[in-house]
Amino acid sequence: MLGRSLVPDQTPRQSTGVTTSADGPHYADQPSVGEPSRAPSASASAAETGPAETGQDGSGRVAGGDNLFGAHATTGTPRLALTFDDGPDPRYTPQVLALLREYDVRATFCVVGENAQNHPDLIQSIVDDGHTLCNHSWHHDVGLGTRSADAIRSDLLRTNAAIRAAVPNAPIVWYRQPGGAWTYPVVSVARQLGMTPLHWSVDPSDWELPGATKITATVLSQAAPGSVVLLHDAGGDRQGTMDALRRILPDLTARFELEALPTDPT
Ligand SMILES: [Zn+2]
Repeated sequence: MLGRSLVPDQTPRQSTGVTTSADGPHYADQPSVGEPSRAPSASASAAETGPAETGQDGSGRVAGGDNLFGAHATTGTPRLALTFDDGPDPRYTPQVLALLREYDVRATFCVVGENAQNHPDLIQSIVDDGHTLCNHSWHHDVGLGTRSADAIRSDLLRTNAAIRAAVPNAPIVWYRQPGGAWTYPVVSVARQLGMTPLHWSVDPSDWELPGATKITATVLSQAAPGSVVLLHDAGGDRQGTMDALRRILPDLTARFELEALPTDPT
């Protein structure tokens, strides 16, 4: 049946936003609760990027208003911050750490609680290398902000507990909502727990697998003083991101001072 072939295969990932397979968990950073993740295509990708993702101008603001509820989209200084989301992942996080070490760069890792629980050694390595940590929810729940304050609180606390099981004294003062799907309750609870909401200002949509060349071009053309750059070291095939990072780092380190987001945000 002809029409049938146009419908993407239905996989668990599309109905839940996450699936765990032999090569690890895959997260879909789609902006809307319950919105299925489809294979990127020229006609659909713009619409699917949706209102909760960053603006096309890289400002972190979106058309029609500010959906950030006060979340930080820039560093607030001339320095640029690289952020790596959805890990840790044993395939990619060590590659990122090695590259950052090669260029003497400190960054921020927004880790998923269940991945922290499964890979405490990688959490330890992140901290040992001088990078800072950011809570990215227990199960990469894009719809977390629509749940009750109690449910949000327990999710964030469970995630922090998994991180602290690996690194008992590491500060966790940032929270990044999966999909950038901020709501007033999730921002409020994060702040109550001592975490500052963290968005981004440069988004190459590397999770859509645009390829290393496009990821590199987007980051290098949009990077500016104060940028917070969103990249992923987990959640699927991240080889494109790894290859892009190798090209991005020499350029960015020549143009900017790069920093791990501070653990004492004001
Ligand atoms: Zn994410």
